[in-house]
Amino acid sequence: MAKEYDLVILGGGTGGYVAAIRASQLGMQVAIVEKGELGGTCLHRGCIPSKALLRSAEVFRQTKEAAEYGVETKDPSLNFNKVQERKNKIVDTLHKGVQGLMKKGKIDVFQGYGRILGPSIFSPMPGTISIEYANGDENTMIVPKNVLIATGSKPKSLPGLEMDGKLIMSSDDALKMETLPASILIVGGGVIGVEWASMLTDFGVDVTVLEYAEQILPTEDKAIALEVEKQLKKRGVTFVKGAKVLPDSLETGDNITISAEKGEAVESYTAEKMLVSVGREANTTNIGIENTDIAVEKGFIKTNAFYQTKESHIYAIGDVIGGMQLAHVASHEGIVAVEHMADENPLALEYDNIPSCIYSSPEAASVGLSEKQATEKGYEVKVGKFPFKAIGKALVHGESEGFVKIVADKKTEDLLGIHMVGPHVTDLISEAGLAKVLDATPWELGHTVHPHPTLSEIVGEAALAVEGKQIHG
Ligand code: NAD
Repeated sequence: MAKEYDLVILGGGTGGYVAAIRASQLGMQVAIVEKGELGGTCLHRGCIPSKALLRSAEVFRQTKEAAEYGVETKDPSLNFNKVQERKNKIVDTLHKGVQGLMKKGKIDVFQGYGRILGPSIFSPMPGTISIEYANGDENTMIVPKNVLIATGSKPKSLPGLEMDGKLIMSSDDALKMETLPASILIVGGGVIGVEWASMLTDFGVDVTVLEYAEQILPTEDKAIALEVEKQLKKRGVTFVKGAKVLPDSLETGDNITISAEKGEAVESYTAEKMLVSVGREANTTNIGIENTDIAVEKGFIKTNAFYQTKESHIYAIGDVIGGMQLAHVASHEGIVAVEHMADENPLALEYDNIPSCIYSSPEAASVGLSEKQATEKGYEVKVGKFPFKAIGKALVHGESEGFVKIVADKKTEDLLGIHMVGPHVTDLISEAGLAKVLDATPWELGHTVHPHPTLSEIVGEAALAVEGKQIHG
């Protein structure tokens, strides 16, 4: 006899497990079907391990620069095994934490591959889920009232640049490197490409980024992308923008060589390894979508604002529906979806109020529209900009490059976008997120008293700068 649940979640990543906790709080009987490990990409192959490596890279660089702070060190060297051990320990600790949370919420976790089998004979149930275990010999059936698809995404490859995990790597493979290469070609200068470029250059690797667009981080405000590029160039990263990589020219051996077209010219590039970071594609295949009426567009599951698919009892959230492919977005979509199932009347998410962060050195973070996006949408904008070099705490901290840029609507005074590059901006951006949620104006942000000396003063100053009223600049 199949076991019955109020909710079965396919995928126990940041989207799926957070949704499970909220559902359990709402009194639902919940099961998660997870083929890998609880915590998913973010915990095991994304946010957490990459940030742990980035932190080691930063400490290595700063130790080399310690003399500037009056701290004398002798020839710091890198023990990459230890770097990896530290990363694995952090992942392990958080993984145990998620497992504990599942126990606390009495959430059943099935470690296997889940598939929707289609409309159930137990009508009005939406569909039975089959679970296939790694050894292949057991098949459990569970019957949910609601299903949540939270199966995430995987790295996209470029035709002709198939990833072998050794010479040509995805970010998943790169996280598992046991030794560092002397040089690397990074194809794609988006978020992943830039974070890896920053980390690897700090570890002493010779990095070349080949980016198709004319701007690295093409979705960020141009001024922010240029500042990140400038600072990474200073630390030795080579950027080739407007570069059309030619997979047919690929030559592999001890090294890897590839050509890229840039305007009329064709240049060839050689390195020990290649990282391909050209986006991520949704995990929609082989999960039984063909047994349902769920619509898929450009590889992503289509939903309404409350994440219901065409089958009203089947919801989908996170990377599998596209949009902002970010862990915190997936979790919040999960909460909204579950509250909608429980008739809790949740508010739909407003994506212009959601911050996104890049954890390179320098960090970058933004919420809302870039200046170009705002202008293209027809807004008449006014812009305030303030540099970190006029902020005392940034000088104390030893990182005074970068700035905050605020884009506001000239007519209504509304905040349209807040963009940051510099020290700890991935933490500073939360204030900007709150300001957007509360519909604050630059005036209100500027008149919020920011303690001195803190990095946060830059937010107030940039807001005042929208009217030319900044104090220290
Ligand atoms: P991305 O979309 O951020 O960047 C891909 C880049 O590759 C773009 O700049 C694009 O112009 C370029 N590109 C595409 N085809 C190319 C080609 N043939 N040759 C050269 N360049 C090419 O994707 P990503 O960096 O792979 O990241 C995937 C997703 O994961 C993103 O949605 C990102 O937001 C998310 N992510 C977020 C974080 C974070 O929040 N800090 C970290 C890592 C990943």
